[in-house]
Amino acid sequence: MDTDSDVAIVGYGPVGNVLAILLVQLGRSVTVLERWPEPYGRPRAVHFDHEVGRILQSCGIGDELRTISEPADIYEWRNATGTTLLRFGSPGDGPSGWPASSMFNQPALEHLLDGRARALGVDVRRGVEVTGIDQRDDMVTVTAADGTTASARYVVGCDGANSIVRSLAGLPATDLGFFYDWLIVDVLLDEPRVFDPINLQICDPARPTTVVSGGPGRRRWEFMRLPHETHEELEDEALAWRLLAPWVTPDQAAIVRHKVYTFRSLLADTWRRGRMLVAGGWGWVIGDEGSAPGLVREAGRAVARYLESGGTADEPLVRGLFAALEIHSSARIGSAIARCGGATALGRHAPVLFQAAAAGSALAHDVIREAGAGLAALLGRLQQQGADADVVVAGGGVIVAQPLLWASFRDAVVARFAGRITPKLYTGAPVEGACLLATALVPVSSPL
Ligand SMILES: Cc1cc2nc3c(=O)[nH]c(=O)nc-3n(C[C@H](O)[C@H](O)[C@H](O)COP(=O)(O)OP(=O)(O)OC[C@H]3O[C@@H](n4cnc5c(N)ncnc54)[C@H](O)[C@@H]3O)c2cc1C
Repeated sequence: MDTDSDVAIVGYGPVGNVLAILLVQLGRSVTVLERWPEPYGRPRAVHFDHEVGRILQSCGIGDELRTISEPADIYEWRNATGTTLLRFGSPGDGPSGWPASSMFNQPALEHLLDGRARALGVDVRRGVEVTGIDQRDDMVTVTAADGTTASARYVVGCDGANSIVRSLAGLPATDLGFFYDWLIVDVLLDEPRVFDPINLQICDPARPTTVVSGGPGRRRWEFMRLPHETHEELEDEALAWRLLAPWVTPDQAAIVRHKVYTFRSLLADTWRRGRMLVAGGWGWVIGDEGSAPGLVREAGRAVARYLESGGTADEPLVRGLFAALEIHSSARIGSAIARCGGATALGRHAPVLFQAAAAGSALAHDVIREAGAGLAALLGRLQQQGADADVVVAGGGVIVAQPLLWASFRDAVVARFAGRITPKLYTGAPVEGACLLATALVPVSSPL
């Protein structure tokens, strides 16, 4: 069977890029489909170990890799008072010829890998979002949102946390139930500076903190979000500088990112179905504030926190969520949520949250209030990106059917934008609303 290439790779993060290089070096032809037109310019990963160093070297970028990474020979863990709890690591190269731990700048690594892949003739198609895969006995055809297709003998999903290949292939995943929010702050130092130890973990229950290298000339701090803090508060740059103050000040460095990420522990149970495979890490998860599945996930998080801090199982939201997820303890919440099998299935439990609120659950009211505030915060982000609106229209199933969510969103918009943006609820089908808006913006006589 004639195909465009031997292997189609979905996703051009570090994993897709490395896989493409290794396959082409082995004589296979490869097409890569990546949804973003440009590389993502901010680091996520900062650390690789000696075995990964070896894999990257086998891609033909070993010499350059040394210049964009630095060895991390010591990792020290201290308690809140500064007493060392653990100090480990080893100087010099390990048995594989690479340091046991190296710190690096991810965009610089991806730049190196991309250059190598293109030099080897990998067919890299950017700006192509994969939406479907048709698997036959001897080939697969991958379709994209723009209608283009690519055929191959195999397709490998290197498409990160919300892998479409995994979901199209129906490959299950297990959530080990560990999920926490951390504020990540990356800085570029104005001048070279030695941090001793190079990598430090501060095990202070009042604010667990990670202080590590982000590659030569760069540093990364990670601050765990405390239960009373919102994402929005933490993503304020002034707060980031206050948290950084013990180590670095604005006259010594520039912040290149400050963003809250949710760390999760998901494992793909199987990696292959027929000609469809998945590879790669779970990467970053896009926010879904106020959506039905997002509400259920946040309810799960709130219940876990509530029980951890001494709450009891007769609380209406705890009772309702446990019954809906068919679990008896908070230890299973994460995996039960993952077992639901996707956003639609998870979202079906959203009524539990509103029933608990109606039964007087303060916990449920908090979750709904935060969801409304999270949605309103998105408007702030849109404004930062240049959106200039004085009306925001909310529509769709959950916010229309659940007056509490609408009220929390409306109140948060009013409080946040002090009358500059008017929130409105549209109770028709969202697509009709979009058509109405389009007709209002484009004169009816204009050719489409
Ligand atoms: C703050 C933070 C710190 C981290 N630190 C570390 C660390 O120190 N070490 C480490 O190993 N890992 C770390 N990680 C995880 C790290 O991000 C991942 O290991 C790594 O980026 C995974 O690479 P990947 O290529 O599998 O996925 P990604 O880098 O997520 O790339 C996936 C690509 O797939 C594309 N894609 C997705 N869907 C589609 C579609 N439908 N069609 C086409 N393209 C699509 C995406 O646009 C993206 O470019 C960290 C992550 C975060 C967020």
